[in-house]
Amino acid sequence: MSFTKKNQPTVFVIFGGTGDLNARKLAPALYNLFLDGWLPEQFAIIGTGRTPLSDEEFRVRLLEGIDQFSRNGKADKDQWKKFRQHVVYQVADVKNAATYEEFGKRIAAYEQEWQTPANVIYYLAVAPDFFPIIASNLAQRKLTADPDRTRIVIEKPFGHDLESARALNQLLGQIFEERQIYRIDHYLGKETVQNIMAFRFANALLEPLWNRNYIEHVQISVTEQLGVGDRSGYYDGAGALRDMIQNHLLQLLCLVAMEPPVNFTADEVRNRKVDVLRAMRRFAPEDVRKLAVRGQYGAGWIEGQQVPGYREEADANPTSSTETFAAVKFFVDNWRWQGVPFYLRTGKRLHRSASIITIQFKDAPHSIFPPETGESWQQNRLIISIQPEMSIRLQVQAKRPGLDMMLNTVDMVFDYQGTYPSEAPEAYETLLLDTLQGDQTLFMRGDQVEAAWELIMPILTSWQGRPSQNFPNYSADSWGPESAEALIARDGFHWVTLPLNGKK
Ligand code: NAP
Repeated sequence: MSFTKKNQPTVFVIFGGTGDLNARKLAPALYNLFLDGWLPEQFAIIGTGRTPLSDEEFRVRLLEGIDQFSRNGKADKDQWKKFRQHVVYQVADVKNAATYEEFGKRIAAYEQEWQTPANVIYYLAVAPDFFPIIASNLAQRKLTADPDRTRIVIEKPFGHDLESARALNQLLGQIFEERQIYRIDHYLGKETVQNIMAFRFANALLEPLWNRNYIEHVQISVTEQLGVGDRSGYYDGAGALRDMIQNHLLQLLCLVAMEPPVNFTADEVRNRKVDVLRAMRRFAPEDVRKLAVRGQYGAGWIEGQQVPGYREEADANPTSSTETFAAVKFFVDNWRWQGVPFYLRTGKRLHRSASIITIQFKDAPHSIFPPETGESWQQNRLIISIQPEMSIRLQVQAKRPGLDMMLNTVDMVFDYQGTYPSEAPEAYETLLLDTLQGDQTLFMRGDQVEAAWELIMPILTSWQGRPSQNFPNYSADSWGPESAEALIARDGFHWVTLPLNGKK
């Protein structure tokens, strides 16, 4: 969320420079920031990994990533020529102390060349097991001693459960000041997600309606058509609750439910989000069966392609009890939201990939129209679509043209692509620029992460204690297990989907 293009000379040290995240997300994002003039003239990218590569070989890898994944398509020859001069590679084992001495020397050399102290961003795009060892080594070599100039970016997952998240926070807290720590939840960098705050807090008309008096329930649905593919190794130890609900979906819930912050500063915004997590009702063990459901996908067909079940994916555990689908009904126990259910669902291998938030309003208090006028009558809904469609729809009742009085539902739509033809930046561009500029608003603070873990621990513990007997319980291309439909249908509602290219 930037306001200025004047950025400080900066060195990016990317641990995991040879990895998938760098090729797919970080390198294209840095390149696009460079194209758009956001990077300072004096910047350097030091990629690291154990794979022996020359600077040139590393640059070729980055170029391949950019060509394949950048929103701007293939890299422009001239621009790439300029960009590549800023990129070097260091063969490095993060367990080896000498690695960090070498970083220190390289950073000092840049500072000497630039004749100015540099900001240094250490981006940990490696497996979470390495976070403690890298953090400790950076501190031992005093590479992060200056809190004004050095920052550390931690990728998800932040902890495996409450205990491990607390331990990691504690370790980081001994080494860094909180203002140096950037815990990424890339969902928060998405344009449509950032716009939830703009929409709620820059418009006066919503606030009077935004509470239990007018809102009946809220749904947050993040569905994926893809299966786990070759990521079983990671995913089997995580599952949908850890991988999606603990972070992305609860963050979306916070944006919907938070009180207006006093101003748009990192701590004000994050304080209000933490308030939501703290107000959320904790589950007693006996609540879990009633309020949370899980599923695992079986084999099936998606768009004419036969796809394997979760247990048959490459390297999968054939008896795995890991959930690939989770749906939970939460409550936020405060004045604004008392009694309003928040239904969250997420899953893989579902009918369609879509992330939408639905705010369903209560019935009009009294209908003046005879029942037959409202053939397709429906309560008002506000639908915030995050992806793939980027839109906000207000669904209202209107008179159908004709001589008789017939009502039906129409959509008032704010469509991003139609309103702003230029392409929105990728989430990682926003987040890397924020890191460069020292803006933590869109990053998770330590207490937020712990509060989110606290909330889901009773569900995790309950599910771990009773492995599912009926997995797989939904087939590919469905909307998940029947129990997820029942969870919301018991209250008289159903999951809302948006039609996409005529496909319901
Ligand atoms: P990956 O493709 O497996 O890459 C792992 C990286 O770690 C490689 O560059 C590897 O380099 C390096 N590495 C492993 N052991 C090392 C050691 N002892 N010393 C130095 N480097 C070492 O993993 P990834 O998908 O990029 O994910 C990285 C992190 O980002 C993970 O925490 C993941 O959860 C998170 N993440 C990834 C994505 C994504 O889209 N990929 C999305 C969200 C979050 P060498 O093999 O060259 O040593």
